[in-house]
Amino acid sequence: MSKLIITAAVNGGITGRDKNPNIPYTPEEIANAVYDCWNAGASIAHIHARGRDGAPSYDEAVFEEIVARIRNRCNILINLSTSGFNLPPDKEKRVAWNHLKLRPDIASFNCGSLNHGSKPFINPPALARELANDMQTYGVKPEVEVYHCGIIGEAQALVDSGHLTAPLSYNFALGIPGGAPATCKSLLHLVESIPPGSHWSALAIGKGQLPINLHTMLLGGHVRTGFEDNVYYRYGELAKSNAQLVERIVRYAQDIGRPVASSAEARAMLRIAPVKTFEEA
Ligand code: ZN
Repeated sequence: MSKLIITAAVNGGITGRDKNPNIPYTPEEIANAVYDCWNAGASIAHIHARGRDGAPSYDEAVFEEIVARIRNRCNILINLSTSGFNLPPDKEKRVAWNHLKLRPDIASFNCGSLNHGSKPFINPPALARELANDMQTYGVKPEVEVYHCGIIGEAQALVDSGHLTAPLSYNFALGIPGGAPATCKSLLHLVESIPPGSHWSALAIGKGQLPINLHTMLLGGHVRTGFEDNVYYRYGELAKSNAQLVERIVRYAQDIGRPVASSAEARAMLRIAPVKTFEEA
């Protein structure tokens, strides 16, 4: 089994401090949380930006400060969110919103739709092709977000049309109302539905997080944990930090004999080129 890549999704764009006061909002708080997760064993950080009030931010300066602060402190791979509800209708604004110009190592790639709880989360094929082109332009590795099985076919169509390059990196996001449930059977079905040789990781939201993390580790996949998906350490007990969740995954990995990948090892496994400075890019 390959070494385990742990992604820390430190904040997300939805859950607020009313649910857990330890969720990082500001660039400094986000960079501190990421640094602590890196020290704990995470090799990728998945990041959203927030305003001071906690609302999602798409401000370029905020994203730029987050990336710069993290790059200054550690070599963790940066995975920026490109998704969001209510994306602006004109292309120029959308490009500004996806922040690929900052050359993250990885970015989330949405090419399928679902009802995300009470809200429709719509990613039509034309938008996915546009995002794929932007990722090629800026040399960013797409992480295909899979909420249900149909999205695997949507991604394959983009490989067939030359917009994406195989082998793809899939992230199975389980337990979202309207998407695939956070069950072992559901995870297995998704894993068996992707082409051999693909890279995959999985997450589940809320109480599904730890059980799916454990199934994933045993199946040879890679793990995502963090406050974006769940803010509890166990039933009735809030997690103190993102790093606390990462530390637990590292302990389980050690107990089952699955070594944890460093950031440099994760970069090599995912075949991601070394970081370019903004000037070189
Ligand atoms: Zn996210």
